[in-house]
Amino acid sequence: MAVKYRDYYQTLGVKRDSSQKEIRKTYRSLARKYHPDVNPGDKAAEEKFKDIQEAYAVLSDPEKRRKYDQLGASWQQGADFTPPSGWSGTRVEFGDMRDISDIFGGVGDFSDFFESIFGGARGHQGRQQRRGFAAKGSDIEAEIELTLEEVHRGTQPTLTLQVEKACPACRGTGLSGRAPCARCHGRGRLVEPRTMTVKIAPGARASSIVRLAGKGAAGIGGAPSGDLFLRIKVKPDPRFEMVGTDDIQVEVPVSPWEAALGTKVPVPSLEGSVEVTIPPGTQGGSRLRLRGQGLRKRDGTRGDQYVKVRIMLPTSLSREEERLLKELAQVSKFDPRAGKH
Ligand SMILES: [Zn+2]
Repeated sequence: MAVKYRDYYQTLGVKRDSSQKEIRKTYRSLARKYHPDVNPGDKAAEEKFKDIQEAYAVLSDPEKRRKYDQLGASWQQGADFTPPSGWSGTRVEFGDMRDISDIFGGVGDFSDFFESIFGGARGHQGRQQRRGFAAKGSDIEAEIELTLEEVHRGTQPTLTLQVEKACPACRGTGLSGRAPCARCHGRGRLVEPRTMTVKIAPGARASSIVRLAGKGAAGIGGAPSGDLFLRIKVKPDPRFEMVGTDDIQVEVPVSPWEAALGTKVPVPSLEGSVEVTIPPGTQGGSRLRLRGQGLRKRDGTRGDQYVKVRIMLPTSLSREEERLLKELAQVSKFDPRAGKH
């Protein structure tokens, strides 16, 4: 059976010596223009889309392109074509069809011409299942907001994400008999919400990206699933301020006499409340360091926690307080401006 020659360069509108990059760029812009989702019910666009896909499947693959180019440049689009004698019907496996699967899902119907050069599932033996097509599922990116405690301890949040998967109605082929699958409109893929529990180990930080292998979209043809990349956001904490990447700081208000005489105060920490000793003569604004009480790092060690002392004054004084302060002012030899002018 004679088939019609297809000029793939003409289909994409690229020169015979175009680079892979140019071909990919042209293909992508054409695929966007003629995609069935953009042209619902437009048969001509659908045919054009299939032609583009087929041309790209050949020209994007150096091995297939080389084989196609062996036919020479003298063939005309649509001319009756019979493979040259001695042309081996070696089947070229679909290796990396990622670009196509990204946009279209399964591999659609390719022409008789394509199959006469590359072999194909739809041969003289009649229709068979298309095999040999496999592509890793695409990766997903998402953002998750965690508390400081969660990045410190690690957490196992349950997320619901929109994930692409093979259409169960057509098992990812996009076809129902010879017609496009009604469930996925021929895409072979469906996007559905998927709820999953992910494990975030202790030590994540704001804007760090956690890769969860195999939690992305399902692969096609038995290929592995893609990965999930979770970008971490850390919720502002009302108690702790971040200092650098591993240290935290809390502010603790004390009275002037507590600062002068020393005291013990309860201070929030990542592991609950701890008692901190404020030594006598502690100045306002000074920082006490609680070693190893900061955020847990990836290596299991911890940063530090700082306790910043803030001296607060009463806004109104009782008579007794006023009397005592006046007395203190008289007997004290402390001059905070000593040595200054
Ligand atoms: Zn389907």
